[in-house]
Amino acid sequence: MKKFGIIGSGIAGIALAIRAAKKGYKVHVFDKNPYPGGKLSQITLQNYRFDAGPSLFTLPHLVEELFELHSKNTRNYFSYQRLPEICNYFWTDGTQLKTYQEIDQTIQELASVLGEEETLLKQYFNRIKQNYEILNPLFIEKSLHKFSTWTSKEALKGYTNIPKLGLFSTMNQFNKKQFKNPKTVQLFNRYATYNGSDPYQTPATLSIIPHLEYHLGAYFPKGGMIEIVNSLVKLAQEVGVEFHLGEEVQKLLIEKNKILGFQTAKNRYEFDQVGSNLDIELFYKKFILANEIPVNYSKLVQEKSSSGIIFYWGINRTFKELGVHNIFFSDNYQQEFTEIFQEKTVALDPTVYVHISSKVEKNDAPENAENWFILVNTPANSGQNWEDFARITRQKVIDKINKILKVNIEDQIEEEDYLDPIRIENRTGSTGGALYGNSSNNKFSAFLRHPNFKKSIENIVWVGGSVHPGGGIPLCLSSAKIAAESLKD
Ligand code: FAD
Repeated sequence: MKKFGIIGSGIAGIALAIRAAKKGYKVHVFDKNPYPGGKLSQITLQNYRFDAGPSLFTLPHLVEELFELHSKNTRNYFSYQRLPEICNYFWTDGTQLKTYQEIDQTIQELASVLGEEETLLKQYFNRIKQNYEILNPLFIEKSLHKFSTWTSKEALKGYTNIPKLGLFSTMNQFNKKQFKNPKTVQLFNRYATYNGSDPYQTPATLSIIPHLEYHLGAYFPKGGMIEIVNSLVKLAQEVGVEFHLGEEVQKLLIEKNKILGFQTAKNRYEFDQVGSNLDIELFYKKFILANEIPVNYSKLVQEKSSSGIIFYWGINRTFKELGVHNIFFSDNYQQEFTEIFQEKTVALDPTVYVHISSKVEKNDAPENAENWFILVNTPANSGQNWEDFARITRQKVIDKINKILKVNIEDQIEEEDYLDPIRIENRTGSTGGALYGNSSNNKFSAFLRHPNFKKSIENIVWVGGSVHPGGGIPLCLSSAKIAAESLKD
């Protein structure tokens, strides 16, 4: 049986293991952490449980596909619900708005609260749906590094629709053309942050992201986001994958341009095929440059996606006005992104995202209490003083919540922890603590991401949020699919 070694048990590493097992490999997955999942992990504080990273689950069929690949019934491992209410939005002037699973209900809400025209909203949602259907098969489901991709029928459809796809304007310009109320523009601009980008720079093409939530659905797994990892690890083990947790890969065994295996503190392992789920900059720094193999490293260094300061608060009361996902907007959105991406500092007036899984998972918090996961977008680490930034940002979050919800939230916090870009980097190896690898702040970003396989280095594939097609759970799962398709059976 051919042997396959995977470095990293992030979601893409686990998905690759499951796919490689189907192709007949004996698969071994190594992670430096004593737990699998990388960014998709959890934190427990006394009687509160928090998903440490992702909180929004879209495109669940990409997880189901992995169970189906091995002829297993997903329901025996993993279940999830579609959230009837997607998100609560709050502004400091008292405006409040809710978005729903039913797109018509969302349209009515946007029309009545923000004064947008229903017909224009319908046109917007139809347009982003059409764009998604053109772009997804080409840029997300396929390798951009194969000639056949560019001669496929999907590519031909893309070429004929180039003017409609929004390559030449920014997301903000696109949204400003669609909507009259600046609050609607802000609401739809926020989708750039779903892959760690800046709506004032990222191309309008990325306006396909809201289509995922509004047409295809926002979901939440039973037992929390961590169940995506737990159920897939269970499946992987059942199909023969072995996990070596707490065993860091220290060195690649390389002969000319061929990867023969790797070395950990415990052992030297030889494999027929290797997969890397590492942040791609870390991979080159640790394994290629450290071995003095010449490489054009500067080409790999692209602008990082945003990172974040995440507070995990056990709150000893409940809030009727909040749901699973809640946004407290800043007053000057453009200024906030200038601070994050140009000035590389924390925002003076940050937008605050509050995720409360205990709204649907009662065991995540004690009775009459809630588990607040609070994310504030920040730049990736480039040497800033994160202890100061975390302290300042904590106070800004408290001030904003107090103002909008008319409470004294600090008095309600009974458990607390936090992550910042340095802590994220230490936990996951992600360069600068970037949440999504590279940003998509320019129109060539998709083409600048590292491929999933290369002719110049044999026996290795790359998966995860910092390589093609990009960050976020669905794209990581897609990277594993593309990489696995390139493997010999
Ligand atoms: P990673 O999770 O980056 O894991 C890499 C693994 O490699 C780690 O386990 C690490 O320990 C291991 N490793 C590193 N070096 C070594 C070594 N030398 N040897 C062995 N192992 C090593 N996505 C969404 O879809 N929805 C969201 O709502 C969302 N929100 C997010 C919020 C936060 C706070 C964060 C941090 C991320 C969020 N994301 C979200 C992004 C998503 O979490 C990532 O894109 C995805 O989980 C990355 O997975 P990955 O496969 O690239 O691996």
